[in-house]
Amino acid sequence: MQYLSQTCPDETHKIRVARERAAELKGAIADYLEARPGIPTGLELEEKYLAAKNRIMVYFQATAQDWQDWHWQMGRRISNVEQLADLVELSEQEKADIAAVGGQFRWAVSPYYLAVSLACGKHGALWKQSIPAREEITDRRGVLDPMAEEFTSPAPGITRRYPDRLIINVTNQCAMYCRHCQRRRNIGEVDRHRPRRVLEQALQYVAENPEIRDVLITGGDALLLPDSTIEWLLSRLHSIPHVEIKRLGTRTPVTLPQRITPRLCAILKKYPPIYINTQFNHPAEVTAEARAACDRLVEAGVVLGNQAVLLKGVNNHPFVMRRLNQALLTIRVRPYYIFHAKPVQGTHHFITSIDEGLEIMEKLRGYTSGLAVPTYIINAPNGYGKTPLLPAYVQERRENKIVLRTWEKRIIPYHVLM
Ligand code: SF4
Repeated sequence: MQYLSQTCPDETHKIRVARERAAELKGAIADYLEARPGIPTGLELEEKYLAAKNRIMVYFQATAQDWQDWHWQMGRRISNVEQLADLVELSEQEKADIAAVGGQFRWAVSPYYLAVSLACGKHGALWKQSIPAREEITDRRGVLDPMAEEFTSPAPGITRRYPDRLIINVTNQCAMYCRHCQRRRNIGEVDRHRPRRVLEQALQYVAENPEIRDVLITGGDALLLPDSTIEWLLSRLHSIPHVEIKRLGTRTPVTLPQRITPRLCAILKKYPPIYINTQFNHPAEVTAEARAACDRLVEAGVVLGNQAVLLKGVNNHPFVMRRLNQALLTIRVRPYYIFHAKPVQGTHHFITSIDEGLEIMEKLRGYTSGLAVPTYIINAPNGYGKTPLLPAYVQERRENKIVLRTWEKRIIPYHVLM
C-alpha cells in the first residue's frame, strides 16, 4: 500500500488509487454480507414472533391489552416445566433436565421473551439464555461470588469499587432469571425489594461522601421496583448536589419492554441526566417492541447504552456481535461494554476463551463504525474493577517512534512529533 504515501502525479492516478482501495474495502466486508441473512434481528423475525405470541396468548386467554401490561407479563411468567411443556414440545429428557435444574436454581421467563425466543428457534441463542440447561448442575466449576461483592459494601445496600461512583442494590427481582446471570447467588426463592430503611442508609452514605458523582441503581433489575419507589429514589438522589448523574441497570427493554410505560418515562424525564444500561446479547432480541420501548426512553431524555455478556453458543461469533451492535445503533442504544463472562458456578458452559473475545474485537474495529465498537472488559478478581482487553495495536515503542498494527493488520511505523 505504498501508493498512499506517494505523490500522486495526476487526477486519473488518484481516482485509480481510490477505486482500487474502495474495491479492497468492499472485499473486506464480503464475508459478513454473505453471512448476514443467516443472523436475523428480531425485526426480521416478526412473523415468527407474532405466531408464537398468538399461541401463548391463546394458552393464557389473554387480550392484546393484557400482553402490553407488564404486571400481566410478570404474573404469567413461565417458571415450571409442565407449563413450558404445554407451550413447547419437550422430550422426556428435556423435561427431566429442566425440572432437575429448577430444583436447584430458580428460573422464570416472561411470555414476551418466550415468544421472541421461539421465533429465534428452540435451543437457539435466546432459549439458552432463558431455559435451564443440564450443565448448570453437572458442571460445578466456578465460585458463587467472583467479584467479592460481599467485601465491597461499606454501607447497607451499597457496592463501592471505584473512587467517584457506586452502586445501590435495590432488589433481587428480575423479569427473567437469565441462565448466565453473574449474580445468581442473590436470586433466592422469594422476590425481595430492599426495604426503604436500608435504602435510606444507602442514600445517607451517598450524601455523606461528596466525591460520589455517579450513582448506579441496580439489582436484580432496577425497573422492577414500583414507579413510586423509583420516583422517590431518583428525587432523593437528584437533591444531593454532588450527584451529577444517575444510572439505572435494567434488562427490561430486552426481557419485558412493556415495563417502559409512559408513566415511568414521565418520572424519568423529571430527573435528568439519567443513563440506562441494558443487556441485549443477540440481534434476535432487537424486536419491534424492544425498539418502541427504547424510543420511549430516548424521548424521555434517557441516554441508552448496552452491556452485552460474551456467551458461548449465544454470541461468541464476530458476525453475530457485529450484527448485534449495528442493530442496537438503529434503535438508539450505544454499545458500551462486552463483558467476559465471570466464573460463576452453574454458568461455566457459557464461558468462552479470551482469544475468542479478542478475535471479536479484531473483527469489529475498523470493519464497522466506531460507535458500534464497545469495550471488551474482564472484571479483575476480588472486586478490583473492570479491566479492558484490547488487541495489540502498538507493536513496538521507542522514543518518538511507534510501530502500529492497523485493523487490517498492516504494520506501519509512526513518528510522533514532539
Ligand atoms: S436481568 Fe441481570 S441480574 Fe437479572 S437475572 Fe438477568 S443477568 Fe441476572
